[in-house]
Amino acid sequence: MSSSDLIDSFGRRITYLRLSVTDRCDLRCTYCMPERMEFLPRKDVLSLEELRDLSLGFMERGITKIRLTGGEPLVRRDVIDLITALGRFVGSGLDELTLTTNGTQLAAHAQRIADAGVRRINISLDTLDRETFIRLSRRDALASVLGGISAAKAAGLKVKLNTVAMKGINEHEIPALIEWAHGEGHDLTLIETMPLGEIDEDRTDQFLPLVAVREVLEQRWTLTDSEHRTCGPSRYVDVRETGGRLGFITPLTNNFCAGCNRIRVTATGQLYPCLGGGEMVDLRAALRSADPDRNLAEALDTAMRIKPERHDFRIGEGEAPAVARPMSTTGG
Ligand code: SAM
Ligand code: SF4
Repeated sequence: MSSSDLIDSFGRRITYLRLSVTDRCDLRCTYCMPERMEFLPRKDVLSLEELRDLSLGFMERGITKIRLTGGEPLVRRDVIDLITALGRFVGSGLDELTLTTNGTQLAAHAQRIADAGVRRINISLDTLDRETFIRLSRRDALASVLGGISAAKAAGLKVKLNTVAMKGINEHEIPALIEWAHGEGHDLTLIETMPLGEIDEDRTDQFLPLVAVREVLEQRWTLTDSEHRTCGPSRYVDVRETGGRLGFITPLTNNFCAGCNRIRVTATGQLYPCLGGGEMVDLRAALRSADPDRNLAEALDTAMRIKPERHDFRIGEGEAPAVARPMSTTGG
C-alpha cells in the first residue's frame, strides 16, 4: 500500500479504524436487530489472515487506533488470535488496540485480551435489572455480562460502559446505572438510539434525547464539562457526587461529524466511510485481486474522496432508517 496518510476531502485525517470481525451475535438487542436476523454468509467473511493484513495495510496509511467490534467480536472463534497478532504492534505502529463487546463471553477471555496488549475495553450494559435485560436483549444473559465486567476489571483492563438510553425502558434506571458504574471505577457513556437497520419495534417509541436526560441528572448531581477526550464522539462531564466520568454520544441532537476521524470496515471487507451513509468501497475484492497492494491503495483513496461531510440521522413517525444496514453489520 502507499504510505500516504488518509485525509478526506474535508481535510479530516482518518486515524481510527473500527473493524467488524463478525456480524453474528449471541444477543438480539431490540434497538439493534430483529429476532430473526439474517446474517452474512460465512464464505463472504474475511479470514483471520485477511483481517490482519488489512489492519497492517491501514497502519501503513496512518491508522493508529483499531477497535474490533461486530456483531459480537467474542463469538468469533479465532478472534483472540487476531487480538494477539495485532497486539504486538501496540506501542510500535499502533497507539491503541481495543474492542467493544456485549460482555457475555468476556469472563473466559479477559486475561488473554489484557495479556495481548489491550488496555481499555468498551462493554455494553443497558440495565442492571434481569427482566429489563431480557426485554432489551431477548436473552437471559445479565449474569454473564456482569461476570465479564468483573473479569475485565480483575485482568487490569480499563472498562468503559456504553448504555443506549431508551424511553420508558431503562430511562428511570439511568442514575442507578451511573452510580453503580462509578462505584466500580468505570466511566459510563450514554448513547442516543440511531436509525440504523430495520428492527421489530418503532424507533420513535424508543428514542430518548440525551439533552432531556442531562437535565434530569442535573437536578440530582453537579455535572461539570470535562476536557477529557477519547478518539470517539463522546463528550464528557465529571459528576461531582459520584466522583466519576459520564459521556454523552448525541448523533441525533448534537451532530459531531466535523471532528470525525473514523472509518468502518465490515466483516466482509466493505469499507463504510460514514456510519450514517450508504457510500462504500469493497476492500475484499481488492484484497483478493491479482494486485492487492495497488487495488487496496486505490480503494482507500476512493474512500477518502467519497466520505460525506456529515450523517443525516432523523427519527420520526414514518421515517425510514437512515441506512438499511444495522449497526451490527457496519460495526459499532
Ligand atoms: N456486540 C457488541 C456490543 O453490543 O457492545 C459490539 C457491537 S454493537 C453494534 C456496538 C454498540 O452499538 C453497542 O454499544 C450497542 O449498544 C450500540 N448500538 C447498536 N445498535 C444501535 C443503534 N441503533 N443506535 C445506537 N446504538 C446502537
Ligand atoms: Fe448484539 Fe451488540 Fe447488537 Fe446487542 S448491540 S444485538 S450485543 S451486536
